Amino acid sequence: DSGLDVDAVRAQFPILHQAINGKPLVYLDNGATAQKPQAVIDAVSDCYSSYYANIHRGVHDLSQRSTTAFEAVRGTVQRFLNAPSEDEVVFTRGTTEGINLVANSFVRPMLRAGDEILVTGMEHHSNIVPWQLLCDATGAKLVVVPFSDAGEIDPADVAERLTERTRFVSVIHVSNALGTINPVEEIIRLARERDVPVLLDGAQSAPHMPVDVQALGCDFFVFSGHKTYGPSGAGVLWGRYALLEAMPPWHGGGDMIKTVSFERSEFAEPPQRFEAGTPNIAGVIGMGAGLEWLMALGLDKVAAHEADLLAYAHDRVGALEGVRIIGTARRKAGALSFVMDEAHPHDIGTILDNDGVAIRSGHHCAQPVMQRYGIPATARASFGVYNTRDDVDRLVASIDKVRRLFA
Ligand code: PMP
Repeated sequence: DSGLDVDAVRAQFPILHQAINGKPLVYLDNGATAQKPQAVIDAVSDCYSSYYANIHRGVHDLSQRSTTAFEAVRGTVQRFLNAPSEDEVVFTRGTTEGINLVANSFVRPMLRAGDEILVTGMEHHSNIVPWQLLCDATGAKLVVVPFSDAGEIDPADVAERLTERTRFVSVIHVSNALGTINPVEEIIRLARERDVPVLLDGAQSAPHMPVDVQALGCDFFVFSGHKTYGPSGAGVLWGRYALLEAMPPWHGGGDMIKTVSFERSEFAEPPQRFEAGTPNIAGVIGMGAGLEWLMALGLDKVAAHEADLLAYAHDRVGALEGVRIIGTARRKAGALSFVMDEAHPHDIGTILDNDGVAIRSGHHCAQPVMQRYGIPATARASFGVYNTRDDVDRLVASIDKVRRLFA
């Protein structure tokens, strides 16, 4: 027993209490985005209905209140990640923007032709394409660490590919397509032995487990607020202060400077240096509410509850004839991908939707993972804190229906 009161959790999500195609909704698409608890809806609504104004520049009351609420989220994120300082918390639009920022501000200036950037074979497109763009511009090379049939990375394969040309390592913490929890502590240790900085793509770890950037030892950690039960369009880049301090800005504009003249501009200190323009004010405030809400539940309990669901789903879905689970790693979180002998993943998704069961079918923005297994797509059920074993039973009953329809 995880100690989590799931009924009480579910009661806080208005969207879950509806019928889809006449059946009670079972939402199993949390890998794509999570639903929002009342605390987040209220935080956003309260911002817009009582104190919204632009931040940082105003002396008037509303601007000061908005600034205070917005800036307070840095402290929330600091606690959420156990970061040494809230000045290391940069607000972004999400994981994608965080990776692009690090690629362009931190990595790009040090790249020479022939340098190498190391990623794994199970990255999300957002941790592939920014590096390819950099490689195209600089003549650097993208080096890819393979993974096993089970969907696991062997640190020895990482060690083998770390060379004197490796300038940066960027790794997915938890795979959105396979659910694998990667051996990131080991990967970070190997990289740091060679003084190579490491970014963790935490889009799929932050919602599901306690994250401690100091214990992990990474240099950058990025995640998306919309997957941690907050609004979309707000996310976090955490980076070691010394690294942020040495980085030039990526976006130029208002709110990121000390002084501007036509001769030259002096940039603000981090994190403001990286936050040009008016941010998603209510979105960041809502993200803070989501993180506070998750921390109040307890990430340990969340992880234990979801681990139980995933193990149960593995057993039950894996026992169905004609169903093959893609990704059978020993350590997994969040997601269960599968294919069926006869039915295409899109057919599976459509039939499940008819039963009110929302899953995702497709390549999950990880086409190289699909290529690795020689399949075009998978069906993916991904879990959140409000899911139950009943949800898994509904999933299984519906997959069984697909099986019988296509048999
Ligand atoms: N990385 C991973 C592992 C993801 O799952 C996602 C979202 N599916 C992203 C990156 C991109 O996140 P966002 O679209 O919020 O920028």
